[in-house]
Amino acid sequence: MRSNLLRFCNIYLQDGPIRLLTGSLRKNRIAQTYIFAGARSVGKMRLAKTFAAILQCLGPTISPDGEPGACGKCLPCRRVLAGSHPDVTFIRPLGNEIRIEQVRQMRDQAMLHPYLGKWRIFILDPADRLNESSANSLLKILEEAPDKVVFILIAEEIERILPTIQSRSEMIRFNHPSHKAARDTIVQISGLAPEVVARLYALTEGAFGATLALSSLETPIGEYLPLGQAQVRFLEDIEKFSVHVQEKVNEAPSLEAALSVFESPEIALFLPLLESRKSFVRGLLMAESLPAAFPVMFTGAFQNAIQRSRKSLEKVIETVISRQKSAYASEIIKDIDWQFGLAVQMLFQAQIHGLLDCLRHWCEDLFHFGHTGDETWLLNLDRKEDIMTLSQARGIGFAETEVQLLARILELQSRNVQPGLLLENVFSSIGGRN
Ligand SMILES: [Zn+2]
Repeated sequence: MRSNLLRFCNIYLQDGPIRLLTGSLRKNRIAQTYIFAGARSVGKMRLAKTFAAILQCLGPTISPDGEPGACGKCLPCRRVLAGSHPDVTFIRPLGNEIRIEQVRQMRDQAMLHPYLGKWRIFILDPADRLNESSANSLLKILEEAPDKVVFILIAEEIERILPTIQSRSEMIRFNHPSHKAARDTIVQISGLAPEVVARLYALTEGAFGATLALSSLETPIGEYLPLGQAQVRFLEDIEKFSVHVQEKVNEAPSLEAALSVFESPEIALFLPLLESRKSFVRGLLMAESLPAAFPVMFTGAFQNAIQRSRKSLEKVIETVISRQKSAYASEIIKDIDWQFGLAVQMLFQAQIHGLLDCLRHWCEDLFHFGHTGDETWLLNLDRKEDIMTLSQARGIGFAETEVQLLARILELQSRNVQPGLLLENVFSSIGGRN
């Protein structure tokens, strides 16, 4: 899978961005700053890594149709593939934002000559999480940085990036392929039946890369339960998910490896939980009526499940740290401990986000598909009949109100507003089907 990062042809449905970068490479006119702008999971990070590999490669290749690629054999290529190239640095948010200390550290590195490669490359993912002071600090770096430094700013929400940074950057806008185009492409690549791809695609909430990764691993069961059972299963699976992460952390040969468990994309692809979450959200929308106490009761049970899962994971981490402590300086242990804390927090925040996002996609489907009957933008294609039933029972007005409410709630959630209140608010708005 990783060697796919060496060539642009392994990135799908993004001809425009690829053409621009290929042009840059051919003319040897590399911009200092690129902004990779586009929706979630359309290949921005993959393209950034491929571009970095080609820039660093000692013997880049040109295919017969003129497409540049990395050789995959030289030391820089091998290091890029292993994710350990000293001149390719990833800057990711700590908690909810990229902090000024991180940007300052990046400045110090940017001023040095490349250590191994030809370029110093910094990939900020996502750069729309720079806070005000870190964004201003980045702007200064862009003004001062020496040659041979490339910044790639990855962003979903371009309007959150300072205009003064935008104007210094080459903007690479990614296509937003329709759900149908994405599914058709995955069917072609994976060779799986369209129904299986449709189900996996719905379970990952339309994430192209995640669907492709899952397609080589497991087949979904596709069991949909009535609300009562679906809710029990969903809460149980949150704890199973935690156990799954605990096992990975426990098996890791070092503390660094244990930390990187949280960064691995596979961790978010725990299929039983994706299935039971989908089944719960479907049950919620399909229920004829919801008891008045449901919003408060379920929110409480959900938060308890998260708390319990979190605590048992923290306990395992504590054991793993104390087992390996003697191999590290105490300052480093402190830092690692802090990073684990943050990673666990993000992991469970992502569960709340995932639930809200899943609900939003159902409501978007109700709105668009109920309106037009067009499958091009239908995310939950495997539940087409449910969507039809629901859009008739609940009406377009309900779907529209919910989509707007969920967009607002997701925004508040990203700003750490108390999740219990947000969830109760959302569940209260759903009511029954009749
Ligand atoms: Zn190479």
